[in-house]
Amino acid sequence: MNRFSYERAPDVASAVRAGAGNDSARFIAGGTNLLDLMKENVFRPSHLIDITRLPLNKIEETGDGGLRIGALVTNADTAYNEHVERRYPLLSKAILAGATSQLRNMATTGGNLLQRTRCYYFYDTGAPCNKREPGTGCGALHGFNRIHAILGTSDACIATHPSDMCVALAALDATVRVTGPDGERTIPFSEFHRLPGATPHLDTNLRQGELITAVDLPAKGFASHHTYLKLRDRASYAFALVSVAAALELDGERILEARLALGGVAHKPWRDTAAESMLNGQRASVELFRSVGEAIVHEARGFGHNTFKIELAKRAVVRALAQAAGMEQPS
Ligand SMILES: Cc1cc2nc3c(=O)[nH]c(=O)nc-3n(C[C@H](O)[C@H](O)[C@H](O)COP(=O)(O)OP(=O)(O)OC[C@H]3O[C@@H](n4cnc5c(N)ncnc54)[C@H](O)[C@@H]3O)c2cc1C
Ligand code: SF4
Repeated sequence: MNRFSYERAPDVASAVRAGAGNDSARFIAGGTNLLDLMKENVFRPSHLIDITRLPLNKIEETGDGGLRIGALVTNADTAYNEHVERRYPLLSKAILAGATSQLRNMATTGGNLLQRTRCYYFYDTGAPCNKREPGTGCGALHGFNRIHAILGTSDACIATHPSDMCVALAALDATVRVTGPDGERTIPFSEFHRLPGATPHLDTNLRQGELITAVDLPAKGFASHHTYLKLRDRASYAFALVSVAAALELDGERILEARLALGGVAHKPWRDTAAESMLNGQRASVELFRSVGEAIVHEARGFGHNTFKIELAKRAVVRALAQAAGMEQPS
């Protein structure tokens, strides 16, 4: 490990002040991703700002009937919070599909949003990687790319965002609250993470020095009809090859409103609003779900080892929608 200095921030303003103007400083929350990256020499921050004592560890009602989850609420506390379990069970299930109970006890809301890709080449400091070191190339493009993206890729990077929680937050239309040197702002979840384009080293649209303070959930939680389907190599303790968060508002068999987001397929949680429009107002049926699955992967591109994900994603969408609608499982 490299040498670094450390301070514990007493309040949000001090944390932001300490982060501003020093692009090699990093906030540290649960440390479950940051410390790994430091031990692997992928990150070499000169200064750590411990934010664990900031008053951002509450889950509170918002004025408009939604829920605000503080940036330092642990993933375990969110998943088992009675309001989240009752009103946003999709979020609980997505969190509980990830990591282990020990990790979920440490991992925080803000850290989960900002966890880095699990691309093997990103972790291997001897390999080329445009995300770790811009301009060095992409080891995965013509290398072993079984876990990599099939949607929204670029020639510079085909990494995926690894979070389960973020897939549910995308489907639920969450917003991210941040405070930075220029004050507070909110970012719609769909605009928080980025596609790689020519700048894959930028995972998000956060500005230098900005601290995530909370994630807001709108009032609508799709508690009655939802599913989080995670397909992975092992039954537990593995990142998603493909995951689907599906949420439906139904009137009998008619879909009044649909939400659909995929994980493990793109550089960001992949919310597909065009696919949602295909579902809105229609009668729920396996045929409809199949056409939605086809549409979602229409522009997908495989890179060899991960080409199987195209068919997997298509089938996962059908299964997740059928589960959310309470229908018989399609064969
Ligand atoms: C073995 C293993 C298995 C895992 N499996 C899964 C899985 O299946 N699914 C899944 O979704 N995740 C999984 N994870 C990832 C885990 O969920 C993340 O490591 C965790 O959510 C990160 O949160 P943290 O609080 O520990 O972040 P930290 O490690 O403290 O920080 C991560 C990054 O976020 C920044 N940061 C943290 N908080 C803030 C804030 N409030 N504002 C601005 N920046 C901030 C830090 O500077 C750092 O860059 C796994 C992790 C491990 C180690
Ligand atoms: S896919 Fe992205 S993260 Fe992985 S090696 Fe290529 S540039 Fe790096």
